Amino acid sequence: MAGVSVRQPLDRKAVRIPRGQLYIIPERCKGCRFCIDFCPRDVLVETTEMNAKGYHYPVVAEGKEDECIACQFCSILCPEFAIYTEETVEEESVE
Ligand code: SF4
Ligand code: SF4
Repeated sequence: MAGVSVRQPLDRKAVRIPRGQLYIIPERCKGCRFCIDFCPRDVLVETTEMNAKGYHYPVVAEGKEDECIACQFCSILCPEFAIYTEETVEEESVE
């Protein structure tokens, strides 16, 4: 059996980790929960607060402040344009 060749990137000690800065506009939210239910990192939860229309909007779950990976899925799904992310980048070393 032929040996397996594993390619190593030249800068393998530095890993680029996308992170998201989340922006939520509570007054636009209609409480559909799409962003909460489909976030792959379970970053969001429904708040107990209500907006002026009486809907519970999403907030970042306790302990999940650094978990958003800026995949944009929540902003793509949101029918009300009430949530979006901007990517921030961290470099982390792995030895
Ligand atoms: S950008 Fe992705 S990871 Fe971040 S809150 Fe939205 S769905 Fe979740
Ligand atoms: S997807 Fe948009 S409208 Fe639905 S709960 Fe999330 S922020 Fe609110």
